[in-house]
Amino acid sequence: MDKGKGGLDPQDWDAFRDEAYRLVDAGIARMRDAGAYPWQPVPEDVRAGYQIGDGVSAARVERDVLPFHGGNTHPRFWGWVQGSGLASDMLSGIAGSVLNANVGGRDHGAVYMERAVIDWARREMGMPEGTSGVLVTGTSQATVLAFAAARARALEDVRKAGLAGRRLVAYAGQGVHSSSTKAVELLGIGTDNLQYIAMRDGQIDVDALRTAVARDRADGALPFLVVGTAGSVDLGLFDDLDALADVAADEGLWLHVDGAFGAWAQLADAPWSDLTAGIGRADSIALDFHKWMYVGYDCGLVLMRDEAAQRAAFAARPAYLTGADRGLAGGDPWYCDYGVDLSRGNRALKIWYALEMFGREAFAAAITDNCRMARLMADEVRARPEMHLGMEPVSAICVFSARGGLEPEAQSTLNQRIAETLQETGEAVFSTTSVDGITMLRAAITNHRTRAEDVRAAMAAVDRLADALA
Ligand SMILES: *Cc1c(COP(=O)(O)O)cnc(C)c1O
Repeated sequence: MDKGKGGLDPQDWDAFRDEAYRLVDAGIARMRDAGAYPWQPVPEDVRAGYQIGDGVSAARVERDVLPFHGGNTHPRFWGWVQGSGLASDMLSGIAGSVLNANVGGRDHGAVYMERAVIDWARREMGMPEGTSGVLVTGTSQATVLAFAAARARALEDVRKAGLAGRRLVAYAGQGVHSSSTKAVELLGIGTDNLQYIAMRDGQIDVDALRTAVARDRADGALPFLVVGTAGSVDLGLFDDLDALADVAADEGLWLHVDGAFGAWAQLADAPWSDLTAGIGRADSIALDFHKWMYVGYDCGLVLMRDEAAQRAAFAARPAYLTGADRGLAGGDPWYCDYGVDLSRGNRALKIWYALEMFGREAFAAAITDNCRMARLMADEVRARPEMHLGMEPVSAICVFSARGGLEPEAQSTLNQRIAETLQETGEAVFSTTSVDGITMLRAAITNHRTRAEDVRAAMAAVDRLADALA
């Protein structure tokens, strides 16, 4: 094609169509055979080749783009907490690109679809009708929105006056995700005013929480927010959300639940569904669809019990954005009144597509199966006397040391080497975390492609490397 002369639409739509079909075929093959394509480092010449100017073709995308993914589509990828992506994303991606919807507001299909998707999530989480929400990039952004609404409820004039010397105090368990820390930083509350409450049996000690609130109040501070965690990122631990909701009600605190991945245990079979008991009592929940609901990046959600509080924190419409009763400027409420973004992409479509294509029960089964796989991995660890379990898996995270008998430093080095080597050989992706000062292998199984044979094969690879490296 004669680039630069042809404008911004294809000159030959038939040729465009051939390219599109070729890319669709390549994408389907890669998704169907995801196990054949582990992570690999990006070669120097490929990196350099991304410079603008060489032109594009489906063949070039197959060669230079598709092979260099982040590994998380592979059945033995369990690093950090990442989702595995769905075949439905391919089709919703096409439909979404054709629409090019701006879901900041107004009256069009994507707005109504987002409402339907949010309402589905609201019901799954057991929150009442009238709960508001907005799809965002992820839990980090959702957390900022939730804390901002809590802040505006605590200080009604905060949008105009700022904090003005008033000391808001938030509470969270030790080990709360860094997204909560970032949010208090961004909102001017400051990490000095985020109190880390001691944990008891892996949960916020609610007596210690009550004591801290009373102390801060006596000091003249304004306790306003408590953060419960449904699925801690390190070990997959869950706070007692019912107990936190009781404290929040007694003390007039806003209860926010960080349920980035763990909120979806709500869909699992017992006993895992019990982990989220009480989540529907929260004032706000932040969660991701791109982790344990497996949809493509990026896609998170904040839900807020008090629609007026969400609107009060964000609504701002200059004259050019005035809504109307009819025409394209209808469609109230507008999503720009529920968060920071004015222009917003169509995140609802990929959720809608996935739920309509596979059905809710398939997601519930995959989430349950992931918990079973974490349990299977723990059984495999226990079957090897030389290994050591960091902790009994609570949900879908299993943490272990490949050689429990060594000195802490030697264990840490060995586990680190095993993780790196398996990433490079493409056999499996574990990340690492520290338990009692020892770096351990950590598998977060939020991957619908993982089967029992993947777990067994990965453990055999750990055996082999532990023998070779110890
Ligand atoms: C991943 C995660 C976050 C941050 O979510 P993003 O979608 O990455 O912004 C927050 N909390 C927990 C517990 C997480 O696992």
